Formats: sequence, C-alpha cells, structure tokens
Amino acid sequence: SVEIRKVNKFYGPFHALKDIDMSIEPGKVTCLIGPSGSGKSTLLRCVNFLEEYNSGEILIDGELIGYETAGGKKMSSRRLREMRRTIGMVFQQFNLWPHMTALQNVAEGLIRVRGMARAEAETRAADALEKVGLGDRMGNHPSRLSGGQQQRVAIARAIAMEPRLMLFDEPTSALDPELVGEVLTVMKALAAEGMTMVVVTHEMGFAAHVADQVAFMEQGELVAVDAPANILHHPEDPRIQSFLRTYH
Ligand code: ATP
Ligand code: MG
Repeated sequence: SVEIRKVNKFYGPFHALKDIDMSIEPGKVTCLIGPSGSGKSTLLRCVNFLEEYNSGEILIDGELIGYETAGGKKMSSRRLREMRRTIGMVFQQFNLWPHMTALQNVAEGLIRVRGMARAEAETRAADALEKVGLGDRMGNHPSRLSGGQQQRVAIARAIAMEPRLMLFDEPTSALDPELVGEVLTVMKALAAEGMTMVVVTHEMGFAAHVADQVAFMEQGELVAVDAPANILHHPEDPRIQSFLRTYH
C-alpha cells in the first residue's frame, strides 16, 4: 500500500502540493487527473522520492520513503535505491536506449541493477516482452518500432523488475491517437493481474473503466478522491465539472 499523509511540496516560494492525503491499496488502480500544472507529476515523483517533499510523509508498505520530518533524519541512500527498485515508472517519453534491441533494453536493467546473468536476464526480458505483445519484435531497435511498441517496451522493462507498484505519468500523451489503444490494453491487462498502479492520464475512458479510484487535483490541492463514477460522471465540485467540460 501507499499512504500519503499531509504532504507539502514547495518549489522555492511556490506551493506545489498542499496537504495531500491519499491511500493506495494493494492491487488497486488510482488515476490522477487535473489541469496542467496542478501537481500530478510532482506527486507521482514524490512517491518514489525523485522529488523531495517538504513535510508530511509517504509510507510504502508501512515504510517511510524520504526523510523523517521530525529531526529531518535522512534515510540511507542505499535503502532509498532499494526502495526505488521496487517501484516501476513509465513516462510520456519512452527513454529507450537507441543502440539496443527491445530485448537488450529490457534485459539491461536486470543485469545492471539486479546483477542478473545475461542469459537469465534475457529469458526474463523475453517473458516481459511476450506479455506486452512484442514477442515477435524483440530483436528490433527502437527506431524500428512504432511509438506504441516503444512504450510497450518501456512497460516491459518496468515489469521485468517485478515492481510492487507501477507509476505511469501520461504514458500515452506522446502517441499518435491510433497507437494509444494498444498501450492502454497492456495497462488494463496489468491491472487485471492485480498490479498496484498510479496513472496520471487524460484518458477519461481508461479512468472510468479501469480505475478503482480517481483523484482530481487542482492548483496543488487534492480536490477529491472517489469512485470513478462520482468524479467522472456526476461530480459535485464545480472545479471538476469545469475541468471535465474541456473534454467534451
Ligand atoms: P501537466 O499536466 O502539465 O504535466 P502537472 O499536473 O503534472 O502538469 P507538475 O509538473 O507537477 O504539474 O507541476 C506543478 C507545478 O509546479 C507547476 O506550476 C509547475 O510549474 C511547478 N513546477 C514543477 N516542477 C518545478 C520545478 N522543478 N521548479 C519550479 N517549479 C516547478
Ligand atoms: Mg505532468
């Protein structure tokens, strides 16, 4: 589980996250929506501590990630690295190595980070690529893959590490519209397998059908977290209503 408690984040004087409270249950999918600049990426980056928050706490399976607010005691960088290894992240940009095949891209992390032997890493990488429907494209370099295929390689790379939690930051926003569906299908399958996921997305259909809860953020505030229908179909808050109108 992920427990976010009273988290505040400042960029200089700018208050980017305001008293964020949220629980993410194991095996559940949380979609994070809201206007540009509302703090969605910042919150996601705080969960794996790519971004340092200023107060509050984030607990992952009961363990604090970051610094203890009282006294500001630092967690060891070794432990931080260990915790990050258990959290997969997929971005808008695929960040694949251009000089490596799909298989090598997925295997590389297992070899470098996990210290796995190449043969074993490649077997595991091949399994992950099969899972995202790329069993027949493992030898392709990124330049020989479509955007949707490249993003699926990025997802395979993350799941090959067997994360306990997956964070997605607008995974389909850089894709041509006709390639969005194949990536969402892979994410749906991952959700159905019980992966814990937090997904920043503008795909309201995905949020409506796949999310267990939808969180709406605006100006650094978590305005509401609720069942998808309560946010997407009949929201009470006028800020959510006006945001959703921009999608119709
Ligand atoms: P988008 O939908 O456009 O991706 P977002 O909801 O992900 O937006 P964030 O990227 O989390 O928004 O940014 C939240 C606010 O914090 C924005 O106003 C942004 O300008 C500001 N911000 C983000 N990163 C920094 C930074 N490194 N330094 C200063 N301000 C920042
Ligand atoms: Mg963002």
